Amino acid sequence: MACLLGHKWDGCKCKKCGKTRDESHTIADGMCVVCYKQFAAMSTFTSEEIVLLGIALGTLSGLLKQQGTDATQCDRLSSLFKSGMADSNNKWLSQEDLQFIKTASAMYLEIIGLQNLSPKEEKLWLGLVDKFGN
Ligand SMILES: [Zn+2]
Ligand SMILES: [Zn+2]
Repeated sequence: MACLLGHKWDGCKCKKCGKTRDESHTIADGMCVVCYKQFAAMSTFTSEEIVLLGIALGTLSGLLKQQGTDATQCDRLSSLFKSGMADSNNKWLSQEDLQFIKTASAMYLEIIGLQNLSPKEEKLWLGLVDKFGN
């Protein structure tokens, strides 16, 4: 049955037709209990790394907008990192989000230039690059 007049969403799934969407998941132990999508725990990152990524994503988002590029995903992730993940549902990242963060970090470092980082920032970034490599 197609939902011609709009889906009736209950979290990530339509109650009428069973279609799923990539938002409002109900996540427990890294998996959505409704659609079985897998997530990575935000706790992969330390609080220092979360602050660093919030700054990087925020900066990149501004640059993307200046270029007229869509920065929706970047904005969403930057506010997520900046919020400190207060909401329990925000403690999880999808594989797509992780991939985006990895790419965004590389772009940010290229723009900023490694030589312009403080020794502390450089150490943090090197740790992050290690995490992304796995
Ligand atoms: Zn539907
Ligand atoms: Zn779901």
